[in-house]
Amino acid sequence: MKRSNGNKKYPLAKPNIGREEIANVTKVLHSGILSLGNFAKRFENEFARKIGTKHACAVSSGTAGLHLALLAAGIKDGDEVITTPFSFVASANSILYVGAKPVFVDIEPDTYNIDPEKIEKVITPKTKAILVVHIFGQACNMTPILRIAQKHKLKIIEDACESLLAEYKNKKTGTFGESAVFAFYPNKQITTGEGGMIITNNQSINALCRSLRNQGRSPDMKWLNHERLGYNYRMDEMSAALGLAQLGKVDKILKERANVAYLYHKHLLPYKSILSIPKIAAHNTHTWFVYVVRILNRDVDRDKVITDLEKIGIETKPYLPSIHLFSFYKNKFGYKKGDFPIAEEVSQNTLALPFYIGIKEKDIIKIVVALIKVIEKNGKGI
Ligand SMILES: *Cc1c(COP(=O)(O)O)cnc(C)c1O
Repeated sequence: MKRSNGNKKYPLAKPNIGREEIANVTKVLHSGILSLGNFAKRFENEFARKIGTKHACAVSSGTAGLHLALLAAGIKDGDEVITTPFSFVASANSILYVGAKPVFVDIEPDTYNIDPEKIEKVITPKTKAILVVHIFGQACNMTPILRIAQKHKLKIIEDACESLLAEYKNKKTGTFGESAVFAFYPNKQITTGEGGMIITNNQSINALCRSLRNQGRSPDMKWLNHERLGYNYRMDEMSAALGLAQLGKVDKILKERANVAYLYHKHLLPYKSILSIPKIAAHNTHTWFVYVVRILNRDVDRDKVITDLEKIGIETKPYLPSIHLFSFYKNKFGYKKGDFPIAEEVSQNTLALPFYIGIKEKDIIKIVVALIKVIEKNGKGI
């Protein structure tokens, strides 16, 4: 096969699938048990053990998990849930699914996580919970958030979809709230294709989630009996088998991802007047969902940078648009430009770079050189 050396494509993300994954999924296919089998149970048990939590409930996606975590927390029509506008849309959408209102709070300029100092101002008698999102693989500043939650009797639910095995003050994300949700879409640290996991130490929350994901059945019920309105949010066996194999090598995966981040750091550092690289708070262990840089010169058209890089085979993406500026949020709640200036500023100038296991240092150098060149071309007067 002839190798082209010029226009090699650098995708944004790539799953790390090996022999173990293929063997596990093949086992499922040969067994004929494609749902409600042992792989989902084993994946749940291993996941709970790895995080150090009592219960884990596998579901069909991270979004489904967030929906159930909020339902199980009793969040309902008329309630308010405090969260961040700088996230993947699913975190705020899940609040809409249960009929509650997402009340956004602006973010910290360094970590891009919710700013604890701005939370108390928006608490009302309707506020029931804080949905924290540990963005890009780095934990929120949990000490002040926990203190506020305790003082105002608010629940904490964690969207840990991007922060598998990340730590805040040596404690894992997902272990701070009543429940937490992880996601396994193919761009996440580990994947099941589509899939998610709800974890909790609370037995009744776990039981409720298990019933809700399974059409509202209780464990002792016959198949066609239902004690509550439920959903089909189960994880199938192919996904669970894939997830189990991925979980078996998660430490290695995270180590290799950390190395890719280190290489980007190393090669981007000379350009710190042009780009800001990810900042890690002193008490955090980052687990690198994506590698996001921010263009410092505001004259540079970030979207033009993205399309110029695409033309030479380098995929980058704006990470992330602010949720409050999506039209259906603006129309429903009256959010507008200027409401959360830090989130908006970050949204306008950040981009995620190709980030996956197997990318070589020479590829990273190529990407960095191309990125700087394209930024300089698109800036006025750098
Ligand atoms: C990936 C992700 C989710 C869930 O996504 P699914 O595609 O439904 O698994 C939720 N919140 C955040 C912040 C995410 O990054």
